[in-house]
Amino acid sequence: MKSRFAPSPTGYLHIGGARTALFAWLWAKKNQGTFVLRIEDTDRERSTQQSVDAILDGMKWLGLEYDEGPYYQTDRFDRYKAVIQQLLDKDKAYYCECSTERLQALRDELMAKGEKAKYDGHCQHKNLTSGVVRFRNPTDGNVVFSDLVKGEISVHNKELDDLIIARSDGTPTYNLTVVVDDHDMEIDAVIRGDDHINNTPRQINLYQALGWNLPEFAHLPMILGSDGARLSKRHGAVSVMAYRDAGFLPEALLNYLVRLGWSHGDQEVFSLSKMIELFDLKNVNKAPGSFNQDKLLWLNQEYIKTADTKHLTDQLAWHLNAQSVDVNNGTDISKVIDALRERSKTLVEMVNNMKMFYQDFDEFDEKLAKKQFKSSARPIITALLEKYTQLEDWSSEEIHHVVKQVCDEQDVGFGKVGQPFRLALSGTGNAGSIDVVAELVGKERTIARLNMALDYIAHRSN
Ligand code: GLU
Repeated sequence: MKSRFAPSPTGYLHIGGARTALFAWLWAKKNQGTFVLRIEDTDRERSTQQSVDAILDGMKWLGLEYDEGPYYQTDRFDRYKAVIQQLLDKDKAYYCECSTERLQALRDELMAKGEKAKYDGHCQHKNLTSGVVRFRNPTDGNVVFSDLVKGEISVHNKELDDLIIARSDGTPTYNLTVVVDDHDMEIDAVIRGDDHINNTPRQINLYQALGWNLPEFAHLPMILGSDGARLSKRHGAVSVMAYRDAGFLPEALLNYLVRLGWSHGDQEVFSLSKMIELFDLKNVNKAPGSFNQDKLLWLNQEYIKTADTKHLTDQLAWHLNAQSVDVNNGTDISKVIDALRERSKTLVEMVNNMKMFYQDFDEFDEKLAKKQFKSSARPIITALLEKYTQLEDWSSEEIHHVVKQVCDEQDVGFGKVGQPFRLALSGTGNAGSIDVVAELVGKERTIARLNMALDYIAHRSN
């Protein structure tokens, strides 16, 4: 059993495309079948190599591996030409030389009468030998098909006009290439966005004219933005790689995408293997789904909390590099990950929180320092400094014990010690449990930072 994803390389891989790819991929996996990637690059003006690369990168990052391809339609022009010729020879297609002016006038006339704009068959019987090639669409009967998502669809042939299958320069159009490829590549299920549903009856007529078996069709509902309009740049990031850059885990995005238009009871969190096991086109919603950033963020956080540390380390590598954080310059990254995973919604946030373990800073957050590093904090920081300098067992338990001792000796509450200590350690005041943080920051850096806090206080009271 074969499915395919057939993007046009005219931009990045966007959320809607990734969702289509995921559903086609899941269908293939579920059926122990083959997933094909086909790049539909016949529109040479709009297709770019950069966009092909962006699609391949996006698929790779998501882990949607293809078993066949990528095939490129531009490698198959000879084959399309042969099929077009075959249709011409059988009189199932004909040349048309109608000028754009004539077609425009026809359109205007029909629209003025409140009718649907369609070609009137002007060149049908002229036996021309050049121009565009039009498919002779049947004039009677209905095209009926049972869409695996939308159910039975029936369109009267009268509604369909004679479709252009080759431009005047001989290059084939989408509806022709897609039929030839899905046939030649032996695709069993054509799974795509429902923006193509109006093309399907025309494609079915082409299959029939060529005497080819039909694949199954499944048209997925659109993804909408929070305001109910079709998801677009206006709603924020729509490119898959922008989500990588913003610190999402691929499995969180896949989990989010699978729920966008498909459900299995009330379940929200699905591992990849569960998705494959449970996926069924029958449970794809007919109505469009709305993209919800907060839910995606929630899922991402859930995945960060429970992900395997090694996996998080791998996924963090790109972000550490992007933010120039060198994890060789400090304690074992897996300990830091475990200390931070409960507090990070994204990998970007995690790397920000990691900086205090691997990078020294030369300034404290201005506002917090004014509040925390008053002269009343001097004896507290001095006491911490003395005791930590002497501390041999640099463990979170012992570090905690010292904080308690200082609280008792100076007769102050935990906050009076903890807050300036937290700011001294982090520079930003943004740190989790200070004893764990201090252990991972290390003795030498902790002492240097406490000294820096004392300097700040001295400088300030001058
Ligand atoms: N290349 C088409 C697109 O990107 C998809 C065609 C199809 O799936 O049939 O919209």
